[in-house]
Formats: sequence, structure tokens, C-alpha cells
Amino acid sequence: MIETSKVKLSSRAAGGAAFLKRESYMLEARSCIVVAVAATALASGCRSAPGYTDRDVDITEADMRARIGFLAADQLEGRGTPSTGLELAASYIRSEFARMGLQAPPGGYVQRYRLAMTEMGADWSLALSRGNRRALLALGTDYWGLPWAAGTVEGDLRFVDAVGRPGMRETGEPTIWVARLSAAVLPREWLAEAADAGAAGLLLVLTAETEALMSHWLEVGETLYELGDVEPSLPAALVTESALAAALERLGLEATTTAGAPAGSGVRARLAADLRAETLAAPNVMGIVRGSDPELAEEFVLLSAHMDGLGVGPPVDGDSIYNGADDNASGTSALLEVAEAVAALERRPKRSIFFLAVSGEERGLLGSSWFVEHPPIRLDRVIANINIDMVGRNWEDTIAVIGKPYSTLGAIVDSVAAAHPELSMTPVGDRWPQENFFFRSDHFNFAREGIPAVFFFNGVHEDYHMPSDEADKIKNGKAARVSRLIFEVAVALANAEQPPGWDDAARARIVEDGR
Ligand SMILES: [Zn+2]
Repeated sequence: MIETSKVKLSSRAAGGAAFLKRESYMLEARSCIVVAVAATALASGCRSAPGYTDRDVDITEADMRARIGFLAADQLEGRGTPSTGLELAASYIRSEFARMGLQAPPGGYVQRYRLAMTEMGADWSLALSRGNRRALLALGTDYWGLPWAAGTVEGDLRFVDAVGRPGMRETGEPTIWVARLSAAVLPREWLAEAADAGAAGLLLVLTAETEALMSHWLEVGETLYELGDVEPSLPAALVTESALAAALERLGLEATTTAGAPAGSGVRARLAADLRAETLAAPNVMGIVRGSDPELAEEFVLLSAHMDGLGVGPPVDGDSIYNGADDNASGTSALLEVAEAVAALERRPKRSIFFLAVSGEERGLLGSSWFVEHPPIRLDRVIANINIDMVGRNWEDTIAVIGKPYSTLGAIVDSVAAAHPELSMTPVGDRWPQENFFFRSDHFNFAREGIPAVFFFNGVHEDYHMPSDEADKIKNGKAARVSRLIFEVAVALANAEQPPGWDDAARARIVEDGR
């Protein structure tokens, strides 16, 4: 909770504190007024004289504390995607961008994307029968539900061994397809095939080899979020080869028939799929500081940070709000502070700077995936992406910049840091290569599009993805200095003679192979 007395906010800050006391009412009301109050209180403003010394670019510890304190307040309930708390954060960022004078890209400050939410219920059942024999399979050991469609289907079992057999159409009695998973055919391809052919349901057989393919299947109570709308689909399940063989044996058939019982083998299946599917919507918030050079203003340096968090989850020591102060109220606040500093410059950099606060990152980089698929600007005009994710913890004077060796961006960051010893902030390389962090935040979606990208990150810590990732643990001074470094890097890129370039090997691996 912001104890406004601690931040440098003026008496208007008291308004903010009063807001938090009335939180339950205000949240209901989604009151933008309150967001505006908090925002203006923070607007101590930046200066504009070129040649940016400390007294010019006023990104302070107090600013970071106030912004992180607001975004990570319990009232925003960890900013899960989607949620009321996330919408409040988005309104706050949008009104801040407008107050700072950032231009709205085509389509406006807010881009909304749809996501399909599928929650696995507990009332699944799967039974095979043949004549008066019946074999019940056990959920969670013999089979797992697939998050595709709810409903109960019953029909003849049809073993299908190849996709794309022309003319394969179900015309008679409802049938439930059985197909062995292989590396050649993805589960969704079988789904499309079965649906096209008019099957009523689908069982995918997990062999020992293919078990590795399915990295994770949903357990009861788990929820899956995917970009787009909930698509009409078929009830379906994953069944292990051994469980299917045992069931067929109990029905008096050879165990070896999992490869394909002859048609008319009289085996029927009944599958009850219990899941709740809904199409939801979530926001990305964007703003542009237009460049000063008539030509180069058509090129963009894109700064990004995810504003979402884990939301409300399993309680730990009685606390179920995953406040996400470091992950990623810190990065979102850095994005806002840099935007404010750039927007206040009298002499703007030559290129434009695009500020992007995405959501859905914790759900699988959803917001940034949607952005690169539906960009309001031409992506081939984006010369670099600087992503900011977790910059308020760990070392006092050091920040990791993941992706440095992959393009000349790394050298640019190092030279800017060297030119600003007053920030005492050392950018180091990836200290945890085994963690594959380059692939685990939003910049990866830009890198895959061929845009050189780096990501400012302080490493994980004991509060990472825990309810205890609270604002009072943030090193606001450090976060301010990291933000100041990012400001300098962004401006240097926006004024650079040449855009940054990829290291060829890295480009081949990340852009071509996406790995
Ligand atoms: Zn994060």
C-alpha cells in the first residue's frame, strides 16, 4: 500500500491515500478520476534542455516508489490478465501517456485483443464398451482431458492411422476417432482432421515416444489462455497406450489392437468433457513521442514492459495477492518515467520512440504476440526493441542486459553506460544462460520478427512469482538509475547514424529458427 507520506508527492498525494482507503468502492467504480489524481501528483515533469545531465532528466527514487507503489497496491490485485486491476493499471498508463503529451498510434492509445480462456472441470469420464463388457478409464492416470470442447459424446471407436486420407467422412453413426500421436502430426492437426471428417470426438494415444511431445497437459482446475476466440471444437482426451491396451483387453480384444482395431470391432466409447470456455479481452497501452527529423521520424525505437502480473492465486501465508512489484510494476514504472523524460525534451531525438505496455505476458507473452501480429505501425520501421522486465531488486549498481551479444545493441548499451558514470549502473551480460531468459519475456516476439532486442533484467529472487513480491522490497533508487540508463540508451538509438545490426549467427538462430 502506498504510504503517500513517504513519497515526494504533494498534498495531492493525500488524495491518492484517501482513494486507497475507499478502495473497494473506487475499484468497483473503475474511477479514472482517481487514476488522474495519482498521475498528476507524479507529474513533477522533466526538463528539456539538450545535453542531458542529472539535473535535467529527473527520474527519481521517489517517482519510482510512487508509481510502483500504485501499480503493486493490493487494490490492483496483482493485475492478472484479464482483471479489473489490470484495467485500472491500463487506465492509469493511458492517462499518463495522454498527460505527458504522447501521441496515440493509429487506433488509439489502447489496443484490445481477445483471448480464449479454458478452465478444466473435474467431471470428466471415459468409458469403453463392447457388448455387455465395459472398461472405465481413470482421469489423471489413464487419460487427461484436452482443453478443446465441453460436452458428452458417445459412438463407435474408429482407429485412424494417417491424416489427410481423402474422402474420409463420417456419415453413419457418431464415431470417436482414436489416433496415435506422432512427431509428424500435431494434436491440433488431428483435431482439425477429425472435426472436418465429422467425427463426434477424439482420443489421442500417448506412446512413450510422444509423451515428451506433450510438455504439459491441463490438470483439473487449471486454466489455459490462448490468443483469439474460443473456437468451436470436439470433446477430446489424451489416453496412454498402456491404459488403452488394458481397456481393450478387458473388452476381450488383443492388446496389440491399439494400432487399429478392425472396423466393426464393436468397440464404443463414451467421453464426458467438463470444461468452461470463454472469450475474454485484455488491453495493450501504447504512446509515441514523435521524432524531430522529417525522415527518421518514420523509424521507431520501441520500448516495452509488461504491466500484467499473476493476479490472485494460491495463498501463501494467508496472502493470495501476487502484487508483482518487481515483476513487473518496476519495468512498467521505468517505461512511464522514460516516456515522461523523453516527452519533456525540448529538442526531440531524430527518430520516434514508441512506448508499449503489454498485458498477458504471464499468460505466455500473449499481448506482445498480438501486437506483432496486429501492429499499429510498420514493424520493419522498428530499428530496436528495449524490453524492461524486473529492474527493482538484487544488485545495487548492476543490471543484466539479456541479448547483448546478439546484435550491436549490446555495444551501444555498454558505451552509453560508460559515458554516464554518474549513474553508477553497470550493464552485464546474461548470468543465467541455462535459464533461457531471452526467450521468456516480450522482447522475444520482436526478436523473432527480426528486430534487434535486449532486455533489462535484475534476475530472479526469493519473492519472484510470490505474493511477497511487494513494493516495500523494491530498491527504488536502483530502479530510477536503471530507468535513467534506459532513457539514455533510447535517446542514443533514436539519434544514431545507423540502426543497430544483428550478429549473423544469432539472427539465424533466433529469427530463422526461433530458438
Ligand atoms: Zn515479468
